[in-house]
Amino acid sequence: MPEQPFRDAAHRTADLVADYLAAVPTGPVWQPMDPAARQALLTAPLPHAGRPLDELLTAVAADVLPAPMGNGHPRFFGWVNSAPAEAGVLATLTAAAMNPSSAGGDHADVHLERTVVRWIAELVGFPHPPGGGLLTSGTSMATIVCLTAARGRAAAAAGWDVRADGLAGLPPLVGYVSGETHSCVRKAAELLGLGSRQLRVLATDAEGRLDPRALRAAVAEDRAAGRLPFLVVASAGTVNTGAVDRFEPIADVCAEQGLWLHVDGAYGAFGVLDPQIAHRYAGLARADSLALDPHKWLGVPVDCGCALVRDPQALRETFSLVPAYLRDEEGDQLGWFSEYGTEQTRPFRSLKVWATIAHRGRDGIAADIATCTRLARRLGELVGADPALELMAPVETSIVAFRARPAGLDAAALDALNQALPAAVQRRGRAFLTGTVLGGHEAVRACLLNATTTERDLDVLLAEVRAAAAELTTRQ
Ligand SMILES: *Cc1c(COP(=O)(O)O)cnc(C)c1O
Repeated sequence: MPEQPFRDAAHRTADLVADYLAAVPTGPVWQPMDPAARQALLTAPLPHAGRPLDELLTAVAADVLPAPMGNGHPRFFGWVNSAPAEAGVLATLTAAAMNPSSAGGDHADVHLERTVVRWIAELVGFPHPPGGGLLTSGTSMATIVCLTAARGRAAAAAGWDVRADGLAGLPPLVGYVSGETHSCVRKAAELLGLGSRQLRVLATDAEGRLDPRALRAAVAEDRAAGRLPFLVVASAGTVNTGAVDRFEPIADVCAEQGLWLHVDGAYGAFGVLDPQIAHRYAGLARADSLALDPHKWLGVPVDCGCALVRDPQALRETFSLVPAYLRDEEGDQLGWFSEYGTEQTRPFRSLKVWATIAHRGRDGIAADIATCTRLARRLGELVGADPALELMAPVETSIVAFRARPAGLDAAALDALNQALPAAVQRRGRAFLTGTVLGGHEAVRACLLNATTTERDLDVLLAEVRAAAAELTTRQ
């Protein structure tokens, strides 16, 4: 590689990226792509001759950077997608330059991953025995990793070697979730051959939390029918409303019944860093496994999930293809990450996590999280104070679920209005939120993950919601 063209292009990349990030807050949050620009991206022919780096940068500046998703903007409140942490952005370039496979071995990336997994566990107060976790592409994959371990443990307890024999012949393994459980749990159950029908959807209380009495009753019923209850999935922040399950009573039932407790903390686990809401997370550390997403509230550039497990051996028994007699030779008793999860060649994710956490420190991260929850509570108050808006759930973490409720509309018209509302707000370009269905009603939700968002931005968001609702009702 000739050095000078690369160096020049790298400097220009740094400028492009810095200019891009500096301009994000003053531009539209999102706008539909220009049809010709979209078509050009979709139909670009395979290039036969190569082009110099400099020309590629010109193309990126012209065709890619002008059409972002919007999630870098302080008024982006959609789904659970954060702005990138700047230290993490820089780390991705260095990680790519080294380009190791973080499967195992004695190089910096492997050791750094052990440390950042320990840091993540420390941040959320989860126990961290050496080897008790690894970085993944996201929580969907972390959930597959954790639930595979749970399945293996449960089968072994029934005298069954699921790795060798599969599930056929074993009584059904049954898991318990709530109606607010993220779809990635169902996807994992389907992939693991458990069958989504073997996930019992339990009743929730008025705040959308899993009911431990319903859990105990369902376990008894399944046992009486000869099935094998093995798993409970609780939420440390649901995606619809940010509700946090009560872990203590659920962990009590799990301990009493010998069930694996998995917590989905993808969005909300880091909320425990805010002293104002930390009490909601009591008992989180009693879980057998926790899946969470540094690429959400921490702002680590996508992709980065994390699987944490109480007993590292549960992972190794599940995934290792290294015979026991070959392990523990050279003093690295933990072995390779590829013995603890699904991937063999693994990306160098740990550098962007290290950079993100090291740049802000625990205190800076905790302050950012507290800013988001404070803004969410403020938004909840503003919604509550407007008779034409209705708060749909208590604000527990940093998600605010609400709907427009102008006077004089019946239930069907309200649903139609609120279903159309997110796209109408998005099209206006000044704020971005997304929709959901809560208790059978169409609703919108705003997820606050960006600590540079201000109260003024919340005013703009609600002004945009009101304006979009007015547009839609006059059109009806
Ligand atoms: C985002 C999310 C997931 C899925 O995680 P990915 O990183 O998108 O794979 C699961 N559960 C909750 C609560 C989430 O917010």
